[in-house]
Amino acid sequence: TPYIPVLVYFDIRLYRKTLRPGELLVTLKNYKKVSFFGSLIIKINEAEHQEVLEEFKDGFRKFAGLHDTVLYCSLHDPATPSPTGYTTNKTVSVWGSGGRIELTVAKFMALQKTVQPDWYQSMCDGETWQNSASRKRVRKSVDRTLAHLDECLLVHQKSKELEGVEVFGVVEGGDILEERVRSARETAKRPVAGFCLDGLQMGSMDQTLRTQLITAMIKELPEDKPRLLHGVGRPDEVLACVEAGVDLFESFFPFLATERGCALSFGFDISTDPERAGRAPPAGVVKSCNGELNRHDQTQMTPFEMNLKEKRYQDDFRPLVEGCGCYCCKNHQRAYLHHLLVTNELLAGVLLMIHNTAHYHGFFGALREALATDKLDVLKKRVLGDGGLQTERKE
Ligand SMILES: [Zn+2]
Repeated sequence: TPYIPVLVYFDIRLYRKTLRPGELLVTLKNYKKVSFFGSLIIKINEAEHQEVLEEFKDGFRKFAGLHDTVLYCSLHDPATPSPTGYTTNKTVSVWGSGGRIELTVAKFMALQKTVQPDWYQSMCDGETWQNSASRKRVRKSVDRTLAHLDECLLVHQKSKELEGVEVFGVVEGGDILEERVRSARETAKRPVAGFCLDGLQMGSMDQTLRTQLITAMIKELPEDKPRLLHGVGRPDEVLACVEAGVDLFESFFPFLATERGCALSFGFDISTDPERAGRAPPAGVVKSCNGELNRHDQTQMTPFEMNLKEKRYQDDFRPLVEGCGCYCCKNHQRAYLHHLLVTNELLAGVLLMIHNTAHYHGFFGALREALATDKLDVLKKRVLGDGGLQTERKE
């Protein structure tokens, strides 16, 4: 594979609701093309700050003091699903702290010119992820998304401000295979730098169907351009999507775990002997991989984390995860985090976010290593368990 999965987008909102308009810091490692770079994901609902940015003139990177980062501008925040029913043939809607903002291609592109990212996704009609979408509606969303892409490219190619900036084309198609294939095939004909696979997010479908759709789309896409998947972050689903050919993921998952007051605690160490690695794989993961658990609710805890609000942690003086090198685990214990959480201290979220980000980042490191050394099966066993025989985890 020319691109090795990679990515992690970090959240720089380190847990302040006031920073909610979705800035995500990304660390992307692209095996062949780029050695290592930090990157920031910003949502287009920075629309609210457009006037300030226009006055500032030098783009969002300088505005936010993130000089060495690569900026990617996306349309929606995967951690906060947007209401549906607001797209028209010519517009899409995004939500900022001041409410709904309706964007035309002209407005969307004006924003890209003021934000000046390194890459951005083209405007799209991404409302067909719910399985209630009819075939007719799905076809319309594919057509609209291609029309938006053509319009965006037209503006893009004439724009001085966007010289050197790259566009990712968005592939839609709901859960209809032929539409997914058509969307991928048509998008691949355009001069885009990469592809966003949209509308496959957590809660929209089970992994078997998602894998089928991704496999079909990837067949239509050129190998030398990266494919970014929107809205999938659970470790078991990430593994399945990597196998299907996805290169880039978003990192909202550690943020959601933090929001729940949970610490990521799944095993992914492939370098040591399993007996010595210590922690057993979490119970119930294998079952959940078949889509039997309710995953429609993003607020629900997953088998990859522990809920530190539980009473059993009140006198547990171990670090969140034994052997974790993050600031939180080096300096604090589960009992202290439990205390911070039950007393609603803001520091709880900050410390949890530090750990969860480090843990998730470590998982992606292991994933890259597993691919490079042909150990993906070992990693899958470590993350998912050996066959569903796990008993309740002893903490
Ligand atoms: Zn840690």
